[in-house]
Formats: sequence, C-alpha cells, structure tokens
Amino acid sequence: MRLVLVGPPGAGKGTQAQYIASNLSIPKISTGDIFRANVSGGTELGKLAKTYMDRGDLVPDEVTIAMVRDRLAEDDAQDGFLLDGFPRNVSQAEVLRDMLKDWGQTLDLVLELVVDDEEVVRRLAGRRTCSQCGRIWHVEFDDKKDDICDACGGRLFQRDDDKEETVRHRLEVYQEQTAPLVSFYVEEDILVGVDATGPVEEVTQRAMEAIRPYMG
Ligand code: ADP
Ligand code: ADP
Repeated sequence: MRLVLVGPPGAGKGTQAQYIASNLSIPKISTGDIFRANVSGGTELGKLAKTYMDRGDLVPDEVTIAMVRDRLAEDDAQDGFLLDGFPRNVSQAEVLRDMLKDWGQTLDLVLELVVDDEEVVRRLAGRRTCSQCGRIWHVEFDDKKDDICDACGGRLFQRDDDKEETVRHRLEVYQEQTAPLVSFYVEEDILVGVDATGPVEEVTQRAMEAIRPYMG
C-alpha cells in the first residue's frame, strides 16, 4: 500500500500516520520529522532547513525531493509506505509520480484530512511533542498537566513553528501551495476526503474504512 496524507498543519496527519502505518505494517515517512532530526543533529541539511522552517516557509523542492528520494529507495519502503507532509506542492507531486513510475510503482491512495481553520489553530496551539520518542500530545485534549511523555517518560516540548505568528503564515502557505494538491489528486482519481474532527480513534477508524477498498 502506497499512501499519502494531506491536510493543513494541525489536521492530525502525524497523529493518524502513527496508527495507520502501524495498522498496515508500512513505514511512516514524515518529512517534517526528518527535517527536525537533522536540525537537532546539527547536519548541513538541518542548518539549511531550519531557516525556512522557523519562518514557516517550505524548504526548497530540490533539497526536499533529494531527501525523500533517498528515503523511498530504502529497503523497508519497497512494499509500501505512508508519506506524511510530502508532497506539499504540485511540483513535488509531479516529481513523486515520475520517480515512482521509474521504479514501476504508483500511489494507491491520497487521504485528505478535512478540518476547519478554527480547530486547526486550537490543535496547533496545544501541540506538544516528546523529545525522546516523538509522540504527539495535546495539552487540552490529552489533559497534559506536566510536560512528561506518558508513553516513554521523555520531556515534551513545543515546536518553535507553533508560535501564533508562524502558524498564521503556515496556514497561508498551505492555502497557496499545498491546497492545489487536492485538485491534482482528484484528477488522478486517487483522492479520498476523511472527516478529521472528533476523537483521534474515530478519525483513525474513518481513515481505515476509506483505505480498505484500496487494499490488495
Ligand atoms: P505540520 O505537521 O504542522 O504540517 P511538518 O512537521 O509536516 O508540519 O513540517 C514542518 C516544516 O518542515 C514545514 O513548515 C516546512 O518548513 C518543512 N517541510 C516539511 N515537509 C516539507 C515538504 N514536503 N516540502 C517543503 N518543506 C517541508
Ligand atoms: P499535523 O501533523 O497535521 O500537523 P498533528 O498530528 O501534529 O497534526 O496534530 C496537531 C495537534 O492536534 C496535536 O497536539 C495532536 O495531539 C492534536 N490532535 C490530533 N488529532 C486530534 C483529534 N482528532 N482531536 C483532538 N486533537 C487532535
């Protein structure tokens, strides 16, 4: 199964990607996570990416695509994958399609997580991430009173780009550059929208129901 998750920042892509990838036994490939790991590791890629991420802009296509190409070429991605956060504009989507074609592969399905702006802002404002295991929490919805991860005991942090001003800019970037992907994939006839409101488990259930007809 070769899957892509699209949706605005805060829609719950990372959260759902954990469960969907685990249900389908495929690797979850999140470009945001790979960039953040490079930033923490102080690599050249991380230094470059950070300047864009801090502003809430997209990292240039050339860099992002090279990184995804390397990741998709790894052994564990040969029988399927779940992409979270890539592609994020139409040119990335075109390159992805051509790259997969060269390898004799195609995308099976693109899931669009649908939520309104107000909910997105609420979700991003309360987002916390575990510095140790990467698990995503929410202060209000997960009733987090301390900043300790209930899964591994690691310390939780708030992402720099979840500050209000940066969030506003990321939403604009989404509307301008990423939202056009929806019509791109409608034309390719592989887009399915999923209502991403309500409890996490319900959204996962809806996503799995949407995926089922596409499973081999
Ligand atoms: P969110 O989960 O809030 O949508 P991500 O973790 O996916 O955010 O991405 C964080 C940042 O990493 C983005 O704002 C952008 O700077 C960079 N990034 C992630 N994926 C891509 C991509 N496919 N193309 C360009 N930049 C990206
Ligand atoms: P994205 O990867 O699309 O930016 P995340 O998965 O990081 O989104 O989720 C953003 C925030 O919203 C996190 O704090 C997460 O815990 C919370 N969240 C995700 N899904 C739900 C949901 N169904 N209901 C309430 N909060 C959610």
